[in-house]
Amino acid sequence: LSGGVGVDRVPGLGHSGGGSTLLGYIGIDTIIEQMRKKTMKAGFDFNIMIVGHSGLGKSTLVNTLFKSQVSRWSSGWGSEHKIPKTVEIKAVSHVIEEGGVKMKLTVIDTPGFGDQINNENCWDPISKYINEQYEKFLKEEVNIARKKRIPDTRVHCCLYFISPTGHSLRQLDIEFMKHLSRVVNIIPVIAKSDTMTPDEKNEFKHRVRKELETHGIEYYPQNEFDDDMEDKNENDKIREAMPFAVVGSDKEFQVNGKRVLGRKTAWGVVEVENPNHCEFALLRDFLIRSHLQDLKEVTHNIHYETYRARRLNDNGGLHPISANNTQESNL
Ligand code: GDP
Ligand code: MG
Repeated sequence: LSGGVGVDRVPGLGHSGGGSTLLGYIGIDTIIEQMRKKTMKAGFDFNIMIVGHSGLGKSTLVNTLFKSQVSRWSSGWGSEHKIPKTVEIKAVSHVIEEGGVKMKLTVIDTPGFGDQINNENCWDPISKYINEQYEKFLKEEVNIARKKRIPDTRVHCCLYFISPTGHSLRQLDIEFMKHLSRVVNIIPVIAKSDTMTPDEKNEFKHRVRKELETHGIEYYPQNEFDDDMEDKNENDKIREAMPFAVVGSDKEFQVNGKRVLGRKTAWGVVEVENPNHCEFALLRDFLIRSHLQDLKEVTHNIHYETYRARRLNDNGGLHPISANNTQESNL
């Protein structure tokens, strides 16, 4: 600890092993409740990007994930919606509240990706968008009069949809993930997995994982960012199960007296949330219930930090940083 305050020699407190025995309750643990209250009041931003060629069920899947129409252009909304000639970036925001916690969710859709005859460099607009959000954040950060809370438009997660061909990854899949995995958290998923038999699905998953490995593609959660052994063990399990073979739907079916989201197939109804039918629930638990905060932290501490360091090293185009700002922002 800095500042010359001894932590392990507080007079009047007994000692036992590494930690000290307190003589009475201080209330240190209330910090958790204090943080909870602040978070509840402030809410938080979560920005998710969806990439993959049209018709792979991207819009349907995010709508299924967040149990609402958070993405337009899904089947019901725009079946007549034409495929753009170039990749477009469309961000739509919604505030979702649950248990008193507000989440400002932005879904960034990328219509036109992979839909052209020549898809060369079609990740350029996507990579440009991601970097522009880092730049925006950086500009706010180096401002003399900084906002108390900088609006966060940075992409925390990029869901990459792999076509359920049963063969192998396309060149474009490999190129995209290779180019962007150092810039953003990529989570590859196998789209429309109800179109494959369980055997086909498992074999395809296995092959895709191998190919990703062969091409040295690092996806989220990246090995090198595991915090400790507990983290590593938990993430190893997730990595071994990836890419999740998902199914999305906005149609309800009656199964054993309960209404569930599903899709009718030749085999019967594939229930979206049934882990024996597909891995939607695994993805949802991972993305929202266990790793949402980590996705935000890796974005800030790794991807944004890399951008920031590079940008401040070059310092090209960035206004000279004023003297009274240097101390605080540590530039
Ligand atoms: P997007 O272009 O990638 O956003 O795809 P959409 O979400 O608009 O879906 C395209 C079509 O595929 C629609 O007719 C959906 O009903 C259908 N679809 C969406 N998800 C799935 C899925 O998991 N399995 C199957 N079989 N069809 C799906
Ligand atoms: Mg769509």
